[in-house]
Amino acid sequence: MGKRKLKTSKSMAAPRKLLKLDTLFTCPFRGYPDAVGCHIDLKDRIAKASCRICRGGSKTGLHPGLSC
Ligand SMILES: [Zn+2]
Repeated sequence: MGKRKLKTSKSMAAPRKLLKLDTLFTCPFRGYPDAVGCHIDLKDRIAKASCRICRGGSKTGLHPGLSC
């Protein structure tokens, strides 16, 4: 008797980790490492990537499997 429900839904109460969404990756055009910064707008569901070397910019919809 007195069996208490100890199983709390921990997954629901998981602390919200602040994701750093800015990532750097290699420029797909010139191959410069860490030249392209990617910013993902979660509220707009848009990933913006721009290269600081060749200044190539692209704005694309957020597709599953996007590498950044
Ligand atoms: Zn580039």
